[in-house]
Amino acid sequence: MHDHDHHHDHDHDHDHDGHHRNPRPASAEELRARALEALLVEKGIVTSDAIDAVIDRYVNDVGPQNGAKVVARAWTDPAYRERLLADGTAAIGELGFAGDEGDTMVVVENTPQVHNVIVCTLCSCYPWPVLGLPPTWYKSAPYRARAVAEPRAVLADFGVELPDDVEVRVWDSTAEVRYLVLPMRPAGTDGRSEEELAALVTRDSMIGTGLPLAPAAA
Ligand code: FE
Repeated sequence: MHDHDHHHDHDHDHDHDGHHRNPRPASAEELRARALEALLVEKGIVTSDAIDAVIDRYVNDVGPQNGAKVVARAWTDPAYRERLLADGTAAIGELGFAGDEGDTMVVVENTPQVHNVIVCTLCSCYPWPVLGLPPTWYKSAPYRARAVAEPRAVLADFGVELPDDVEVRVWDSTAEVRYLVLPMRPAGTDGRSEEELAALVTRDSMIGTGLPLAPAAA
C-alpha cells in the first residue's frame, strides 16, 4: 500500500468535476495535460467545460463496447466482415462510430495462421471511436518498445500463448491510420446472438494483447 505525503499543490480552481480527487501525486503526464489545458483556456482556444465534455464522452459513452459491436457484426454477417476488411472506416461508420482519432481505420483480421497486435511506437495513437481512451500500459514506453522487438514475450506477459507456427504481425499506429484487430470468433458460439457475441469481445482482444472470452466465461 502506498502512503503518499500530499504536499503538492492542488490550488487550481476547476475541481468541479472531481478530476483530481485521487489522493496521489500527479504524474508528469497529468501535469502536462493540466498545463496545456490552462494554456488553451487562457488563450481562449477552448473552455474547460468543452474539455470536460470531451472527457466525459470518452469515459461514459465511447469505449470498447463500440468495437465489440463491430466485431460481433463481422462474426455474424459475412458481407459486413468483407466490407470491414476492405474499408474499415466506412464499415465502422455504418454502425455509427466515427470521429476524432478514428478518421482512417484499418481492420486486421486474426486467423489460425496470423495474430495481429497494435501499438503506437511513437506515442499513444489509438482508435478512440471504437475503443475509447487507451489504457495506461498502451502508452507506456516498455509496451511501445517491446511490442515490436519481442511481441511474443509481450503476449506471454498478457497471458496469450500462441502456437509456434502462428505469425505475429505488429501494426504501428500513426496520427493518420488507426488499427483495430478483428479477433477470431471463439469456438462453441454457434447460434449465439450478435449481442451475446459482443459480450465475449474484450478490449484487449481488439488490441491483440488478449483473446475473446470463452462462451462459458461470459
Ligand atoms: Fe501515437
